Amino acid sequence: MAENEAKSTEDDTGISSQEPRRKTISNAYVHRLQRRHFLLFDVLPIFGTVAAFAFLAVHPFGAPELALLLAMWIVTGLGISVGYHRLFTHRSFKAKPWVANLLAVAGSMAGQGGMVSWVALHRRHHECSDREGDPHSPNLAGGGLKGRLRGLMHSHFLWMRRHEYPNVVHYAPDLLKNRSLVRVARFYYYWIVLGLVIPAVIGGLVYQSWTGAVSCLLWGGLVRIFVLEHIVWAINSFLHMFGTRPYRSREESGNGGIFALLTFGEAWHNNHHAFPESPSFGLDWYRLDPGYWLVKLLKITGLAWDLKVPTSERREAKRIHTKIERTAAAA
Ligand SMILES: [Zn+2]
Ligand SMILES: [Zn+2]
Repeated sequence: MAENEAKSTEDDTGISSQEPRRKTISNAYVHRLQRRHFLLFDVLPIFGTVAAFAFLAVHPFGAPELALLLAMWIVTGLGISVGYHRLFTHRSFKAKPWVANLLAVAGSMAGQGGMVSWVALHRRHHECSDREGDPHSPNLAGGGLKGRLRGLMHSHFLWMRRHEYPNVVHYAPDLLKNRSLVRVARFYYYWIVLGLVIPAVIGGLVYQSWTGAVSCLLWGGLVRIFVLEHIVWAINSFLHMFGTRPYRSREESGNGGIFALLTFGEAWHNNHHAFPESPSFGLDWYRLDPGYWLVKLLKITGLAWDLKVPTSERREAKRIHTKIERTAAAA
């Protein structure tokens, strides 16, 4: 891309001091960090999940493992969906600073990237969605079955090995100004470790054994990271190739309603691309959206306000009417 063409006057961050601010940064240092993060937090949980099953020979899967897997999955999943996505990226509602900080901690524990980087990447995804510059579109790898499969692999997983890093000064200046939030987000790696220590300590105490601690670390830590990652990545990959499209939007996003509960409401991805400013992704009360349920709960308790739910006129203006609806309207 022209905006990323190498310039001769780069400093070691890759940003030229004489050129207008670049939207993305691409240099050896950034790519080394990306590769390390990919191996530690995207590849390692795969081996951790295999290890968890192998460890069943040593320690059985019991109620503590199930409870920790579910609880940690819900906490970190809501941290990503409500914190990283709806609050920090799209600013679809306002919340008390301590609530925002807690959501940043919960989201960090998921191991899907530091908060500011995640926000910058996701804002770039919305800016370029399914066009050149989108960090994880499945639709730019050519046609045919081979191109589609290559696109799915890229958007689901492989893009994280190495990608153009969105310049956070360009994409997330609002967050950089929020000093208390940045202070919390800076401890990203510590929060990930905390997310592993919590299940290990609880497991050790409940079972009163080291094998219990290891078993709960595996299930409540690494398996939980693995499960949530693939759920979030499936939105980037499958729901930009498949799904229903009730609303007009310029990219290929689709809704996958049957996965709504499992994805904390993120599966209403076409709704979300059509109305990115909305804290509700389901948009209608009967479309399951656990992330929005938490936002509503925060609103009821006075911890969140200024929910930017789209009006019915705005929704109607973007709605794609089915053939039957068009015929009925014309009659
Ligand atoms: Zn998308
Ligand atoms: Zn979004």
